Amino acid sequence: MPTSCDLLLCASCVVTQNTSRETIENGAVAVTGGRIAAVGPRPALAAAYAPAETLDLGRAMLLPGLINAHTHAAMTLFRGLADDLPITTWLTEHIWPMEKRLTPGAIRLGALAACAEMLASGTTCFADLYFFAAETARAASETGMRAVVGEGVLDFPTPSARTPAEALDLTRDLFDSLRGHPRIRPMVAAHSPYAASAETLRACAAFARNQDAILNLHAAEGTTENADSLKNTGKRVIPHLHSLGVLGENCLLAHCVHTDAADHAILAQTGTKVAHCPKSNAKLSSGAAPVPAMLTAGVTVGLGTDGAASNNALNLFSEMGFASLTHKLVTGDPTAFPAQAALDAATLGGAACLGIPDIGAIAPGRHADLAALSLDRPNMTPLHNAPSQAVYAASGAEVVLTMVAGRVVYRDGRFPDLDYPALAAEVRDMARHLAGHRP
Ligand SMILES: [Zn+2]
Repeated sequence: MPTSCDLLLCASCVVTQNTSRETIENGAVAVTGGRIAAVGPRPALAAAYAPAETLDLGRAMLLPGLINAHTHAAMTLFRGLADDLPITTWLTEHIWPMEKRLTPGAIRLGALAACAEMLASGTTCFADLYFFAAETARAASETGMRAVVGEGVLDFPTPSARTPAEALDLTRDLFDSLRGHPRIRPMVAAHSPYAASAETLRACAAFARNQDAILNLHAAEGTTENADSLKNTGKRVIPHLHSLGVLGENCLLAHCVHTDAADHAILAQTGTKVAHCPKSNAKLSSGAAPVPAMLTAGVTVGLGTDGAASNNALNLFSEMGFASLTHKLVTGDPTAFPAQAALDAATLGGAACLGIPDIGAIAPGRHADLAALSLDRPNMTPLHNAPSQAVYAASGAEVVLTMVAGRVVYRDGRFPDLDYPALAAEVRDMARHLAGHRP
């Protein structure tokens, strides 16, 4: 007797990202209750399961949904407003003044736009550090995405909090309101060691530990951060964070561009995770994070886009390709950060960074968070090696279907949970308002 299941999803190629990194030709995935019941060759699964629905994607590559380990979703509103500037000028003269105008309504629109962009390019889960985080959580929930969201805690006033204590109050509210949510988790988000004092960082770390939650911050991104940290604390950024008790298995640091072997040893020993954001680092000339060295040292690395003001897209396919090419370019070694490593960072690495072990692979028991790329596109033909095609040839525009927890949340240009044309019009109006223009 075949076993019943909700859905049998069939595709000509299934990239499992399981422990043996198996790719299955003419494969199928059985989904039930939002989770993967089985994955294997289509004939075997078709015989073993009696699905309520069968969805045959034809010539398509089915991948685990990609995981964006670091972004500021609502910054889609600032896309293209301040390009080609040094990081300090960009932040202090452009981004921070514009952020003063942000309201909960603006965050909601920007985050909805970000969710649409991510879903349309195969991203099913993201980690967000920004302001009015409850609005980002709501946007992610409404669009059917999975997310881990945190309210930015800084020592100076933000659009949502006048003091770090107020930001921690908002963090507490976020934890209360998201308790039991099936897809959205709260985290603690301190901006960075340069925008948060030792006292603030210690308070954030304690809160995160008590809640068994992720603690997210930016670290060692800009070229002067280590020198500034040495002057102010007597230590480089990573040892400073270590001395405060901030690092650990639950700690996720974005960037880590300016890190050395001693830093990597600390990160590996404490189990601290790194969200690598190569395009943002390149655009702001921050440098190339020494990711191959981190991986050799045993550090877990995920891949993030950072916000749309410094990328300017929230597309993990272009991020994977750029990451791989960057490490080959800066190391002079064409074997550095191969396609499989880039795909690992965007799937399994992201899952580890966010503390969600049951995403990031197409394997029994994991959430049915999936993305399908059309293999009918000229740039996807022929297919010899699936990770290579996903990392070096795909642009993200090939995504024909995105599924989160067994639900189709994007298909062929449409979002079942979103009136996208109406949203886009509102986003354009809001972006114009924030930029200081009048209609
Ligand atoms: Zn960032």
